[in-house]
Amino acid sequence: MSLLQVTGLTARYGDFQALFGVDLTLDAGEAIAIIGANGAGKTTLMRSISGVLRNAPEMIRLNGAPIGALPPDAVVAQGVAMVPEGRRLFASLSVEENLLIGAHGRKDAGYWTLQTVYDLFPILKEKRHVPGVSLSGGQQQMVAIGRALMSNPRVLLCDEISLGLAPVVIRDVYAALPRIRDAGAAVVIVEQDIGQALKVADRVYCMMEGRITLSGRPEDLSRAAIHDAYFGVS
Ligand code: ATP
Repeated sequence: MSLLQVTGLTARYGDFQALFGVDLTLDAGEAIAIIGANGAGKTTLMRSISGVLRNAPEMIRLNGAPIGALPPDAVVAQGVAMVPEGRRLFASLSVEENLLIGAHGRKDAGYWTLQTVYDLFPILKEKRHVPGVSLSGGQQQMVAIGRALMSNPRVLLCDEISLGLAPVVIRDVYAALPRIRDAGAAVVIVEQDIGQALKVADRVYCMMEGRITLSGRPEDLSRAAIHDAYFGVS
């Protein structure tokens, strides 16, 4: 059984249908990437899995149990944490306070604590008392990732964590992924940067207009097939 299973997921915003029967699986220890152009539905898929959108009670399962009807805090408690697009740090809180928010409601001890997050991103320890929003974009992204890790997730959803960051900073942020996986989380990465996605993911799903148009292991997917699945066949 897959750790996370999405079956025939649909999603709507009022009259507008944003997802049409999306199927996806994630196994324990795996990293998958979801790629697609602006508006393909990637964020809608993340928001559905994380409980922000809840119109799919039976279509999303974690270890076989439906989580699609649960609100976001309950989804986190089940072991699925999201690093949201745009980072969404709390402006009035310090780095450390932002991180501690992520541990709210956590029941079990686990690998991730303030100390292990600071080991992962040492700059955050130096800056722990300053407001999170005063940090650089890359450092803010590290806070957002650390905050999600503080819940000790089994599944970490990362929505466009490279957006707006310089290449050298993207490299630093992505360098954390192997350690996050070693600590026991499977990872879902939403990326517009195809090259980045192919580099870090065990499997890739490509979305277009609310549908999965291609999926497979990076080494099995040709550039031409990815191009067609991403942009449509011209
Ligand atoms: P991006 O890379 O821009 O974040 P995306 O692949 O994540 O794109 P979504 O944000 O999931 O795409 O959007 C999918 C579709 O749903 C788009 O057509 C978008 O305009 C629409 N949409 C997203 N959020 C809403 C909303 N709150 N109300 C109405 N339509 C929405």
